[in-house]
Amino acid sequence: MIKYISTRGKAPILGFEDVVLAGLASDGGLYVPDSIPQFSAQDLKALSTLSYTDLAYKVMQPFIGDAIVEKDLHAIIVDSYKNFRDPKIAPLKKLGDNEYLLELFHGPTLAFKDFALQFLGRVLEYFLERNHQELTVIGATSGDTGSAAIEGCRGRKHMKIFILHPHNKVSAVQRRQMTTVEDSNVFNLAVDGTFDDCQDIVKSLFADKKFREKQKLTAVNSINWCRILAQVVYYFYASFQLGSAKPVSFCVPTGNFGDIYAGYIAQKMGLPVEKLIIATNSNDILARCLKTGTYAMEGVSPTLSPSMDIQISSNFERLLFDLYDRDGSAIDKIMNDFRKEKKFTLSEKALTKLRTQFAAGRADDTETKTTIAAVYKECSELLDPHTAVGLSVAREFHKDKNIAMVTLATAHPAKFPDAVTAATGVHPYLPAHLSDLMTREEKMGIIANDATQIKSYIEKHS
Ligand SMILES: *Cc1c(COP(=O)(O)O)cnc(C)c1O
Repeated sequence: MIKYISTRGKAPILGFEDVVLAGLASDGGLYVPDSIPQFSAQDLKALSTLSYTDLAYKVMQPFIGDAIVEKDLHAIIVDSYKNFRDPKIAPLKKLGDNEYLLELFHGPTLAFKDFALQFLGRVLEYFLERNHQELTVIGATSGDTGSAAIEGCRGRKHMKIFILHPHNKVSAVQRRQMTTVEDSNVFNLAVDGTFDDCQDIVKSLFADKKFREKQKLTAVNSINWCRILAQVVYYFYASFQLGSAKPVSFCVPTGNFGDIYAGYIAQKMGLPVEKLIIATNSNDILARCLKTGTYAMEGVSPTLSPSMDIQISSNFERLLFDLYDRDGSAIDKIMNDFRKEKKFTLSEKALTKLRTQFAAGRADDTETKTTIAAVYKECSELLDPHTAVGLSVAREFHKDKNIAMVTLATAHPAKFPDAVTAATGVHPYLPAHLSDLMTREEKMGIIANDATQIKSYIEKHS
């Protein structure tokens, strides 16, 4: 039975259910499984012909154990992916010579975050129902996370969800994907401030122990283990679609390191992976770290790929834990130093390990636009700017054409129409289920940048 331990070694050891409900560990660390289930070559062969949902069951079940009854888990998985518009759920598209895109944008909100949040919303509801509990989900968003979290939680009986976004600072498509949801358990707050203000308010609400406990606050951000787990599946699925047992390289547009860390877990479970390539935009803390060995915080600058505009990469701590041979006290020290000094330097040994499994590159806005334009010219395919960062870096690394290079396409181009139109002259259209998005009625509260007012709003509506 798999147990979960904190990367900082001081929080209680928990089972799957408690880890999902807790999110962050009480010592400030992140939960990781104490051991990784293994698939043999023979197992992989048997898995390779399964449908997406049957595969998801086989990959995730060993991490969940008896926390969810087998038939219930199967039903939750089928329900999570029933609203995806492509029958393959995560189809692989050939672009060039042994070059592929893994399309992860066929879910309800058109970004890969649906894979995790559709599943997490249902898993949470399952535990809450069983325990006769209620929860308040709160989060701040600059775009994609908010709509995916709302879609995952809408209409669930045991939870209310409050999402803060900076007023007039998210795109119209992104805002409307949140504010046109009609379910009565969904609350959108447009805060008169920046995304950082929204995040600070959310942090301060969590820091208020009385409020946190009274409202049973929970976060569904990317450090929740359940989100990572749901993302492990499509790495297997992509390899199997290539139909061979040969190693594949994956290039992943990265912000908080959640998505690419899921690829690392797939590799540890036995999936043959040649290289995992971290692709960042000009907010390139990870690319710099691989190059120099120092992980150092700098300011954030806005780019065409806003969901990757991050100062630090929270899930990187999970990888560090392995790079330091799972020594929680070493990670505790590193993260404390990092908080004080805003940087730390990896040990020789950790850096060597990191560079063995991973490579990293960056693409700035100019390269992003050039890649969007080039791919449209080559094969009439429209890329969203996040995917374009990935493909731009993938092409830099794809030297040996005998090894397949799969870039994760993390969002639909119609989510970022301005950048796509500017690069290609072509306006990307929203899929049919969202075609009337721009004329639907919106529902949101506009509120001052003030934690006290937001607190009373939440109290009044829950
Ligand atoms: C969130 C997001 C990313 C970054 O994913 P991480 O798991 O934070 O690395 C990349 N692309 C898109 C479109 C996203 O929404």
